[in-house]
Amino acid sequence: MKALLLLLTTLLPLAALGAGSRELTALVRTDDNVPVLGPVTLTDLVSETGFDGEFFKIVKGKDDEAIGFDGDAQLTLRAATAYHHLTLARNYFVKKLGSAYTASLPKMVIRLDLTNKFSKLGHFANDALDPQYNNALTVPAGAGLASRGIRPWDIEIWVRPSKKIHISEITFHGSEAAEFKSLMKSYRDQSRVQSLSQFLSQTIVSATDSESTIDPFNTNNVIRVIGSSVLLEAAYHFYDPLTKLFQRKWYWLDTAMVPEIIYHEFAHAALSDHLELTHSTAVIEGMADFFAGQIADSPKLATHIKAFNTYNGKDAKNKQQFKDVFETSDYANSDFVFGLLWELEKIVGEDRGEAFMFELRKSLTTNSSIRGQLIEGILKTCKKLCGDPFTDKLRIHRALHSRGI
Ligand SMILES: [Zn+2]
Repeated sequence: MKALLLLLTTLLPLAALGAGSRELTALVRTDDNVPVLGPVTLTDLVSETGFDGEFFKIVKGKDDEAIGFDGDAQLTLRAATAYHHLTLARNYFVKKLGSAYTASLPKMVIRLDLTNKFSKLGHFANDALDPQYNNALTVPAGAGLASRGIRPWDIEIWVRPSKKIHISEITFHGSEAAEFKSLMKSYRDQSRVQSLSQFLSQTIVSATDSESTIDPFNTNNVIRVIGSSVLLEAAYHFYDPLTKLFQRKWYWLDTAMVPEIIYHEFAHAALSDHLELTHSTAVIEGMADFFAGQIADSPKLATHIKAFNTYNGKDAKNKQQFKDVFETSDYANSDFVFGLLWELEKIVGEDRGEAFMFELRKSLTTNSSIRGQLIEGILKTCKKLCGDPFTDKLRIHRALHSRGI
C-alpha cells in the first residue's frame, strides 16, 4: 500500500500537467497496408510541448531540443509518425518478445533531416563530407571526445532528408527502366553480381549529385541503409498511394514516413545485444528485416515478401541459388537471408517463429557467415525451441539443401 501511494504521488504531478500522452496526426497503414493519415495517441511523453518521451526524443539535425508540437506542419507530421511507429516497435520487443535488453536501452535520440555521415569518434562527420539523403541508419553509442567537446551519445537513429532524383540521373547497368518496379526487377535479376548498397548508391542514395564519381565498392557510404530490396520495394509500393508523386520520373524516400523502415532501424537497436551496430552484413540486415516484417504484421506485405525474396521468389529456382562467393559481400545476400528466415518460420511453426528468430540472435554476430554460423545457429536454436527437433531439423536441412546451401 505504501508503495502504491508513493507511486501515485510520483505520477500525479505529471498527470496534472497533462504530459504523458497526446493525440496527433501520423501516417498509419490500413489493413490493406495502404498509407493514410489518421489520429494516433503518442504515449510516454515527458514533455508538454514537444516530441520528448521516456524512450524517444525526436530532434531536427544536430539539435538537443525536441521538435515542438506546434512547429512546421510537415515536420510535426514526420516526427509524430516516427514517434508512433517507434513506440509500436519498442512495445513489440519489450512486451511480445520479453526483451529485457530492449527495455533497458537508454532513451534513444532520433535525428530527422541530418545529412552528416557518422563518425565513430566525432559523432557527426564534417558537414561537407558526402551529405546523405533518402536513407536511414542506426548508429552505435559512442564515448565522445572530451578534449574536443564531443559529449558521449547512446544508440541513435538518423533519418536523412528526402531529395528528389530524376529518372535520367539513374543509370543501372544500361537499363532503361522507367519505373521503380522495373528498376527493382533489374536489381533482383542481377543481385548475384552486385549488392543492394551498390545498387542504391547508383540510384536513390548517392545519385543525388550527378557530378560526383560514385565508387561502387565504397559500401561504407551507405552502411545499413535499409535492409533488403524486398522491404525497400514494399516501402515504395505502399508509400506511393499517399504521395502520388513518384509517378514515372521522380524518386525519393522520406524514411520517417515509412513504418517498415522505422521498424527495421529499431530492430537493429533491439538486436544489438548480440548483433553489434558496427557495419552492415547480410545476416544483420536479414534479421532486422525479419522483425520489421513481423511488426508490420500485414498479410499483404507477407505476400509480397513471399513472392519476391531471392530465397523463395518465383524467379529464384536456379539462378538465385546461394553462392559462396557472395558470402561476405555486404548486402549481396540480405534478400536471401530475409527470405530464408521468413520461410523457416513456417517450418518451425508460426506460433513459435518469432521467439525462434529472437533466440537465434544469441548464436550470431554481425560477422556471421550464412553457410557457417547462421546455419549452425538455426540448427542449435531448433534443438532448443523446435516442437519436434528431430523432424524439424530434417525439414530445415531439406529446405536449405534445395536452395543450394
Ligand atoms: Zn539495416
